[in-house]
Amino acid sequence: MLTNDTLAQWDRENFFHPSTHLAQHARGETQTRVIKTASGVYIEDRDGTKMLDAFAGLYCVNVGYGRQEIAEAIADQARELAYYHSYVGHGTEASITLSKMILDRAPANMSKVYFGQSGSDANETNIKLIWYYNNILGRPEKKKIISRWRGYHGSGLMTGSLTGLELFHNKFDLPLSQVIHTEAPYFFRRDDLDQSEAEFVAHCVAKLEAQIEEEGADTIAAFIGEPVLGTGGLVPPPTGYWAAIQAVLNKHDILLIADEVVTGFGRLGTMFGSEHYGMEPDIITIAKGLTSAYAPLSGSIISEKMWKVLEQGTDENGAIGHGWTYSAHPIGAAAGVANLKLIDDLNLIENAGTVGAYLQQSLREALSAHPNVGDVRGEGMLCAVEFVKDKDSRTYFDASDKVGPTISATLLAQDKVIARAMPQGDILGFAPPFCLTREEADTVVAATLRAVTTVLG
Ligand code: PLP
Repeated sequence: MLTNDTLAQWDRENFFHPSTHLAQHARGETQTRVIKTASGVYIEDRDGTKMLDAFAGLYCVNVGYGRQEIAEAIADQARELAYYHSYVGHGTEASITLSKMILDRAPANMSKVYFGQSGSDANETNIKLIWYYNNILGRPEKKKIISRWRGYHGSGLMTGSLTGLELFHNKFDLPLSQVIHTEAPYFFRRDDLDQSEAEFVAHCVAKLEAQIEEEGADTIAAFIGEPVLGTGGLVPPPTGYWAAIQAVLNKHDILLIADEVVTGFGRLGTMFGSEHYGMEPDIITIAKGLTSAYAPLSGSIISEKMWKVLEQGTDENGAIGHGWTYSAHPIGAAAGVANLKLIDDLNLIENAGTVGAYLQQSLREALSAHPNVGDVRGEGMLCAVEFVKDKDSRTYFDASDKVGPTISATLLAQDKVIARAMPQGDILGFAPPFCLTREEADTVVAATLRAVTTVLG
C-alpha cells in the first residue's frame, strides 16, 4: 500500500486542485487530505480519522454516504451498458425514466430536461438556449443577463461571469460584457441599517428597475438567481423578495433562471426552492442533489413556453447545435433514478425540513448571545453563522484576520466536524446530508460552540 507521504508528494507534484492556493500547496504548506471511505454523515481518511461532514461534500451528498442502493444501480448500469450517447433520439431506460421522474417533481409549467454533467455546464446551456430563443423570436438585441452580486452559478466563462464573487473574476478577464450584476438580497449586510426588511426589498427592486431602464428592457434576456444565495453567504431572501422581483421580470418580458443546483430535490425541506418562494422560472438548473453526487449529472429543466420556441427553431434551422458527449450519461442517469427513489422511500425531504429547523434553532440558542455572532440564519437543511467584529455598529473583521477559516479549521481539529468557511465574509456554513439525526445535530452544535469559544473567546 502507498504511504501517506508518497501520496502527498505525488499530489504536490501532479495534481492541480480546484479552488486551492496553488503555490502554498505545491510547497507543502497546506495539507493533503486523502479521504478513503464514508458512511451516513461521516467521512473517513486513510488514517481512520472519522469526520462528521456537516457540509455533505460541497452540499451535494444529500442522501448521505455509502448508500448501497445507488452503488448497486451504478454497478448494474456499468455492467449492462456503461455508455451510449443521447444524440439524435438515443436514450437508455435510465435516462428516459429519470427525465420523467424529474418532470413529475418539477413545477407544472415545465416541459423537458436537458442533461449535462455539472452545474456550470448546465448554466452555460441555459444561456445558450436563451440566446437561441430570442434569436428565433426575432429579438437579436435581447441578450444580456442579470445576475446578483454574491450569486454563484459556476466557474466557466459565462457562468464564472454570472457568479458575483470577485475571486472568480479577478485576473480571468471576467465578467463577460453581456452580464450585469445587481444588488444581493442580503438584508443582514444592507448599507442602511435603519431600513426595514420591506424597505430593503423595495430598494433591491428599485435598483433592478433602474438597471433595466438604463440598459433598455429590449436588451435584457434573463435574470438568474438561486432561491437562497448559496456560496455567496447562505442567505435566505427577505420576505417578499422573489414575488417583487418576479413582477419586474414579467413586466419587462425577462426570463427567470432559478439556479437550484443546491436547493433542488429537497435541501430547503421542499422539492424545489422555486415553489418554496413562489418563483415562476422559465428554466431550472439542477445538479448536486439530482444524484447526491454519486455520479456527475446536471440538468436544465425547460418550460413549455421556451420549449415551443426551441421546436420552432429546429423546424426553421435543423437540429439544435448543442450537445455534450456525456449528456444523459447512463451511469449518471442510473444514479439519479436510484437517488430520487431513495429520497422518496426514506422521506428525506421531510427530515431535511424538520432536522434542519432543529439544527438552526439549536445553533441560534447556543451562539446568538456571543458578542461576535451577528447572525444565525437558514432554511431547511442549510444554515449559516455569520461573525462580526462588533454587533452594535455591524462592523466586520478584516478578511486577512481569517476568522471564518480559523473557526472552520478549529472545528475540524478539535472535534472532527466539517463546516465550510464560505469564501466571502466570515460565514460558517452548514449543509449536512438530509439523513442527519437530532443527536448528530447536537454534536455539530456543541462542537461549533467550542470552536467559536476557542477562537473568539
Ligand atoms: N450553481 C450553484 C447554485 C452552485 O452552488 C454551483 C456549485 O456549487 C454551481 C452552479 C456550479 O456547479 P458545478 O460546481 O457542478 O459546476
